Amino acid sequence: MLQESRVAKTRKIRDLASGADFGQWLISNVGREDPVGDLAHDVVHDPDFPRDARHYPEALEYLQSQGYCLGAQNALAEAWNEYLARYPERAVKAAWCERCARAIVELPKGVLVWTESGGFEVLHTCCVQGVPRCSIDLHQLFDGPDLGGLNAFANECGAPSELVARLEARLRLWGFGARRRRQTKVYFIQEPKDGAIKIGYTSGPVERRRAALQTGHPEPLRVLATMDGDRSTEADLHARFGQYRRKGEWFAPHRELIQFIAALVPKVPRP
Ligand SMILES: [Zn+2]
Repeated sequence: MLQESRVAKTRKIRDLASGADFGQWLISNVGREDPVGDLAHDVVHDPDFPRDARHYPEALEYLQSQGYCLGAQNALAEAWNEYLARYPERAVKAAWCERCARAIVELPKGVLVWTESGGFEVLHTCCVQGVPRCSIDLHQLFDGPDLGGLNAFANECGAPSELVARLEARLRLWGFGARRRRQTKVYFIQEPKDGAIKIGYTSGPVERRRAALQTGHPEPLRVLATMDGDRSTEADLHARFGQYRRKGEWFAPHRELIQFIAALVPKVPRP
């Protein structure tokens, strides 16, 4: 039982360290004085909210089924966009077919069609009926880092710009066009003899950073762990462990910080 709670605790720390999934991220916004904060407050008190939802439509469907107001539904879209802007690498691209309402997870099986009467429709290739005037495979259109291909296609079809804008907003919520940032890392580097720990971030090799920091330290510095993250991850950690700060980005090796770092390091099985 004790063992189990330790495992759960470690998992929680690791989840926090790897950054939150959408549900965790949303809940962390409790206290914000805006619609996203209000939604976060509602979700905290709603144990059935699908916190592990990987796609916006899953969470939206839940809100609709539970009779959440339109304001809450709009806040969900706002929250999802904010989450994807912050963690574009976590976007899981999928589209939803307008005929059968099922997900199109394998994008080569999806197509965007344009008809004068129906406007834009996202469909499974097998759900297309008749011969559309214009059509393009989903993966061709949206494989790039932005949705530039969409405008070219829309021009070709002569689609009105407000319909294009509405489609683009929907596609972004589905994870299309999320910009992947350059991969940066947050590192934990410790002074010798269980000394202070520096929490910093770098876009280059962590070893190079360690070597640069070594100047001014007679004994070797140690890289304790690294994790994916950027300046905002670093700022979150500085705030989180703020009470242990010694100077600048250096923190006392308090148990709480050590536990956090330990959860980032894969355990080596004892022989
Ligand atoms: Zn379909």
